[in-house]
Amino acid sequence: MVNKFANFTEHLTNLKQIGQFRTLPQLIHHGKYIEKDRRLMLNMSSNDYLGLASDLDLQQEFWQKYSEKAPHFSAFPPFTSSSSRLLTGSFPEYEQLEHLLAQRFQRENALLFNSGYHANIGILPALADKQTLILADKLVHASMIDGIRLSGADFVRYRHNDHEHLLSLLKKHQGKYQRFIIVTESLFSMDGDIVDLKALVTLKQQFDNVFLYVDEAHAIGAYGETGLGIAEQQQCLDDIDFLVGTFGKALASMGAYLVCDQVIKDYLVNTMRPLIFSTALPPLNIAWTTFLFEKLPTFQARRQYLAQITDYMREQLAMCGQAHLSQSCIQPYIIGDNQKTVELALNLQQQGYYCLPIRPPTVPQHTARIRLSLTADMNMQELAAFVDCLRNSIFDK
Ligand SMILES: *Cc1c(COP(=O)(O)O)cnc(C)c1O
Repeated sequence: MVNKFANFTEHLTNLKQIGQFRTLPQLIHHGKYIEKDRRLMLNMSSNDYLGLASDLDLQQEFWQKYSEKAPHFSAFPPFTSSSSRLLTGSFPEYEQLEHLLAQRFQRENALLFNSGYHANIGILPALADKQTLILADKLVHASMIDGIRLSGADFVRYRHNDHEHLLSLLKKHQGKYQRFIIVTESLFSMDGDIVDLKALVTLKQQFDNVFLYVDEAHAIGAYGETGLGIAEQQQCLDDIDFLVGTFGKALASMGAYLVCDQVIKDYLVNTMRPLIFSTALPPLNIAWTTFLFEKLPTFQARRQYLAQITDYMREQLAMCGQAHLSQSCIQPYIIGDNQKTVELALNLQQQGYYCLPIRPPTVPQHTARIRLSLTADMNMQELAAFVDCLRNSIFDK
């Protein structure tokens, strides 16, 4: 008998040998702490940058708001939409949130998606065709890469955050395509570096056929005067053609949005497959997102505190000899070697800090790292104790 699974087994064996085999961890959550194998650890790997996910007061206020309207469950938005929005899955909650987004971003309209992954694999294939060249930063998230591949459009990658390289590519390919779409993140998820969006806007404005697509997944909520991200901080909300963000990170919910011109929204409603062919998020979930998004401007103190602990951590990592220093709440501690990174992560976990090794192919070869995420519910004592621990682990070897 031939074993028809043999090639899968072989592939997994190979992954184990090179230290890249993945498993789903068993975790129990206790607010900002994670319990794994009976060990309680401070979660240093979460995307809950504002500390909203474990804020029970907010959850209570949300339930209160609906139960006051009527003391039974029929007052709550439903747990399912039962359909795509284009069929019977449209509920007032979606339009309310889209209206709120358009108003806050001061743009013509907004469109909701089930996740950032849906957004990024759907928007680009809908918009790009054979007359389009996509120019993507070398380090953009896998969801954008998948979207680019699905689009079937030609694409080139420019060196990470290298706008001169981007400009030279745009000049080189002018005349060969009708349209160009520049694709980038505003705050890069694995390096934590922040893009000069204003410079990108100036760059694309030199041409009349270049669009700018920016994914603010890690910045929405955590940056900007009212929490609208790096584009707000750099005052260029108006100038980004396709501004994408997600609700699953700082906004402690699920889903994603695009703020854009009306014509683009109409176009996507007619052509974007992950929007048309997937059941819309539960209205209850949209109501929770709306509840938090309405409050977003009031979380300014949390954003300021996050900036303060970011400065602290950067200084401390510099003193630990880290050369790659990030300006944001994502602070990579780059080691390079896969095995050493895994060892350090386990060591930190044993001492009560849930740190995870990030290895290729998620990051480029020889840049394995511990990706530290700071969240606004960590206090200074916890961070100082963590830094001590990190220093001891590094200099012990
Ligand atoms: C997390 C992430 C996504 C995916 O968003 P989900 O809502 O989790 O699917 C997209 N883009 C970037 C840059 C991300 O970091």
